[in-house]
Amino acid sequence: MSQTSYTKSDQTKSVANLTLPPSLWAATATPAPETPMLAGEGRADVAIIGGGFTGLSAALHLATANEGGTDVAVLEAAEPGWGASGRNGGQVIPGLKEDPRQILSRFGEKDGEAMVRASGAAADLVFDLIKRFEIDCDGQQTGWIQAAHMPHMLGDLQKRHGDWAARDANVAWLEADELSRRMGDDRYHGGWIDKRGGGLQPLSYARGLARAAIENGARIYGASPVTDLSRDGQNWRVTTAHGALRADKVIIATNGYTDGLWPGLAQTVVPVFSVQVATAPLGENMRGRILGGGEVLSDTHRVLWYFRQDAHGRLIMGGGGSAYESGAVNIYDGLRQRIHNLLPDAGEIDFEFAWNGKVALTTDHYPHLHELAPGLWAGLGFNGRGVAMATMMGKILADKALGTSQPEFDFPNMKPRPLPLHFLRGLAVTATRTYYNFRDALDDK
Ligand SMILES: Cc1cc2nc3c(=O)[nH]c(=O)nc-3n(C[C@H](O)[C@H](O)[C@H](O)COP(=O)(O)OP(=O)(O)OC[C@H]3O[C@@H](n4cnc5c(N)ncnc54)[C@H](O)[C@@H]3O)c2cc1C
Repeated sequence: MSQTSYTKSDQTKSVANLTLPPSLWAATATPAPETPMLAGEGRADVAIIGGGFTGLSAALHLATANEGGTDVAVLEAAEPGWGASGRNGGQVIPGLKEDPRQILSRFGEKDGEAMVRASGAAADLVFDLIKRFEIDCDGQQTGWIQAAHMPHMLGDLQKRHGDWAARDANVAWLEADELSRRMGDDRYHGGWIDKRGGGLQPLSYARGLARAAIENGARIYGASPVTDLSRDGQNWRVTTAHGALRADKVIIATNGYTDGLWPGLAQTVVPVFSVQVATAPLGENMRGRILGGGEVLSDTHRVLWYFRQDAHGRLIMGGGGSAYESGAVNIYDGLRQRIHNLLPDAGEIDFEFAWNGKVALTTDHYPHLHELAPGLWAGLGFNGRGVAMATMMGKILADKALGTSQPEFDFPNMKPRPLPLHFLRGLAVTATRTYYNFRDALDDK
């Protein structure tokens, strides 16, 4: 049988350390399901590369599709949730960065409407999966707040709120005094709450998706980095160090950890190390004060600022990123200082965890779905907002692999566009962050 090898992956570079790094989520997650290493030759109808929310949601939707499901195998370099999916802020945020009306004007009626529908329903999908498969992950659909840090940001937020309200989404405008009541101070000028959103323990959610997929017949192989993806006659051949799978269809779900497996794919996104810190559980009086209703919040700083409490009253904060892991480590102190600013009367606060992981940014700020070749798809570029959208992308990719003629949700197929001068991305990220930090500092004065 003819076999054309498209490329060799330099996988070892991007996922060199396969141990789950220490984080709040790693310390408090439900146990990981058994995911043996792929050994020997095998086959699957659909092979999925990457075991984060995108790959696991695709696997679960494939395994539960139709009578008897589809024969699906996930190949994960480390373990389910090892990437950004097990390390994020756990904020479940519906929608995309731009508003419905901007999406429609940019992508047109048909594609734009599909994107608005899919992204608007993405958070509901997460909470439905949690309920349907009884995933133990502290999931709470208690709302996502977007708050204006400057009065001039209110107009944009009002438009966003209005756009979603016009679509009957479960949203509400929050005047400054209502926001102060939820925040315990008056730092914000107003905002809106999208009640479709909420919070969860992301590693437990990833492991829950994996467990549900396995219980429904999917195979998940851990410690199985794919080193080569090639065409093998009518099939695809997906090779790891100790085995290989022949598959009719393949989904690449590697987001910020994408590298050379498919030519040019890694160059369509800019990987950035994003950062989180978590305090020790706050005292009872503090817990009730800041987002005590379980809401999660992001504000309008250019270098995004977002925080929430976990199920044990720890304050978790994220914001900022770096092209280099060493740079991410430098951001921890700034975030700790921000928590002190949020809780000025809390005295000495103990910090228990600081960690980071890679997100994938796109220059248009949209996630991208690509049909790279017949029977080969990729979904990536969630721009740091993939808890809901990567889960939805997995469902959409599952429908692509199934050839569903009228899928419940859809997303346009986009031509992969490798970024020119991609090798200069580190400089670009650093320059942009420095500029945004400067503008934010001027605002905060
Ligand atoms: C610190 C941080 C905070 C964040 N906060 C939020 C938040 O609060 N809300 C939100 O919506 N989003 C947030 N995000 C973004 C969100 O986590 C991601 O968008 C989402 O998890 C992407 O999921 P994924 O499955 O596409 O990718 P990932 O979860 O990154 O999974 C990719 C997987 O592919 C595997 N892989 C890579 N190459 C190979 C290979 N060759 N063979 C086999 N496996 C391979 C990797 O091991 C990895 O497990 C945050 C991200 C970070 C890092």
